[in-house]
Amino acid sequence: MSAAQTQRRVVVVGAGWAGLGATYHLAQQGYEVTLLEAGGTPGGLVAGWQTAQGRAVEAGIHGFWYPYRNIFSLVQQLGLDPFTDWTRSSQYSPAGLEVESPIFQQEPRLPTPLGTFLYTRFQRLPLSDRLSALPLLYAVIDFDNSDAAWRRYDAVTARELFKQFGVSARLYKEAFEPMLLVGLFAPGEQCSAAAALGMLYYFILAHQPDFDVVWCRGTVGDRIFRPWVERIQQAGGKVLTQKRVTDVVLAPTGNGQPQVTGVVCGEEVFAADAVIFAVGITGMQKIISQSTTLRQFPEFCNVMNLGAIDVLATRIWCDRKVNVPLPSNACFGFDPTTGWTFFDLNALHDEWRDAPGSVIEADFYHANQLLPMSDADLIAKVQRDLATCIPAFRDVQIIDSSVIRLPKAVTHFSPGSYPSMLPGPTPLTNVFMSGDWIVTRHGSWSQEKAYVTGLEAANRAIAHLRHGSPATILPIELDEPHIAIARTVNRSLRDLVSQVLPPIWLP
Ligand SMILES: Cc1cc2nc3c(=O)[nH]c(=O)nc-3n(C[C@H](O)[C@H](O)[C@H](O)COP(=O)(O)OP(=O)(O)OC[C@H]3O[C@@H](n4cnc5c(N)ncnc54)[C@H](O)[C@@H]3O)c2cc1C
Repeated sequence: MSAAQTQRRVVVVGAGWAGLGATYHLAQQGYEVTLLEAGGTPGGLVAGWQTAQGRAVEAGIHGFWYPYRNIFSLVQQLGLDPFTDWTRSSQYSPAGLEVESPIFQQEPRLPTPLGTFLYTRFQRLPLSDRLSALPLLYAVIDFDNSDAAWRRYDAVTARELFKQFGVSARLYKEAFEPMLLVGLFAPGEQCSAAAALGMLYYFILAHQPDFDVVWCRGTVGDRIFRPWVERIQQAGGKVLTQKRVTDVVLAPTGNGQPQVTGVVCGEEVFAADAVIFAVGITGMQKIISQSTTLRQFPEFCNVMNLGAIDVLATRIWCDRKVNVPLPSNACFGFDPTTGWTFFDLNALHDEWRDAPGSVIEADFYHANQLLPMSDADLIAKVQRDLATCIPAFRDVQIIDSSVIRLPKAVTHFSPGSYPSMLPGPTPLTNVFMSGDWIVTRHGSWSQEKAYVTGLEAANRAIAHLRHGSPATILPIELDEPHIAIARTVNRSLRDLVSQVLPPIWLP
């Protein structure tokens, strides 16, 4: 056997979107790939399982937005049909219904961001408040997802950015902050302005249909991950659960280029010619803090500067049906630092379509103060908050419920966090990073970003080990022409100014 044939052992750590994406592609390319997952089920934050009574639950409901081109392409390749049609959504505050969104791709297409402003149906927010967002367009154009743009905006809080650009207090409280709580899981004063601009552009502003969303017609675990894992295994990939990685084995550094030769998992060592980390921030911090090898590199130690956010996922089964006008709903103003969403699972999931009572998922983001509460108190709060939005929930009896606490589960894009986030390549020449918190120029977010960075890491391993073809990664849709022109002009002006003025100001 030639050296090239033996150098095909890749170990992937973490079985979320990123890890499964990397494993699937490498297995298809003939690599001997082993995926090590600490938990009992593949899927990471999107894993699903069953309650003691056999009812399906999952770690929060996950939407798939219009720009998730790579995930939609994967699902098509796998021959799956997991999704609902495009759905409309609404927003509630303690005062009642605030906003209804149409299906944007069904409305006449307008140059962005006109469609978003004109077709979104605000029930109360005056036009003058909505117009106060206009100056913010400059920041949207100036933030082009480049390294320089991240460094310019990352140290500023999102709240400060909106304040500087003259966004009205009401527009901030009733539109932007709810989007931050749902999109970045934190209130504006705790979000990096760079992350806020990147997220808002990707999900809402880049093209009129971007805010359109579909949902799985059951848990993502059942509808996508289970058949996907089967395909990975058919392609020769090994998916091993209950395998918590604690370290890597460093090769003797003869040529000064540090490499790893294996992955440590308790008493076991898995030999590897390349390693892909696909774990979240908290998982990576645990590995780094107990690793005798990774802590030799400042890039890995810097990951300890990052933070993660608590999330809570609850599901209730009611004794009767309540009419919920739209299947997905975001809520703000109930708790000062927490956003929440609720979903009508009778409308979204096949399993509950004909159920005699409503099945509702209510997920809370930035839920620090909720996690210590008892299950009974949490379910009472869910019912109270739901009844504030839709009064008929006051009268239902809850016949079963599920509470899933997810401490330090999701990425915190806090102000000043960007320099500590790792890019795909690492100081170890055969170790590559992936996941929704990794620095990438692709421009996507959340599940799509995790999947894309998994493919990017697979491609880096392929380039390193020189075998097989890289995965095709679909880029995000191009900027609309007027945005592209504005960005070119802005960049030229910036270059000109930087040539004339001395670089003495903060970025
Ligand atoms: C309630 C909630 C709602 C969300 N809603 C949406 C949504 O609507 N749309 C959307 O796109 N995104 C949403 N997200 C975000 C989305 O879930 C994440 O962006 C995505 O799942 C991240 O995938 P990942 O592969 O990067 O990491 P993860 O899914 O976190 O996977 C990492 C895996 O690594 C494993 N691991 C950790 N440490 C180790 C170790 N030492 N050894 C081995 N394995 C380890 C973990 O067990 C985990 O399985 C939501 C998240 C939550 C929690």
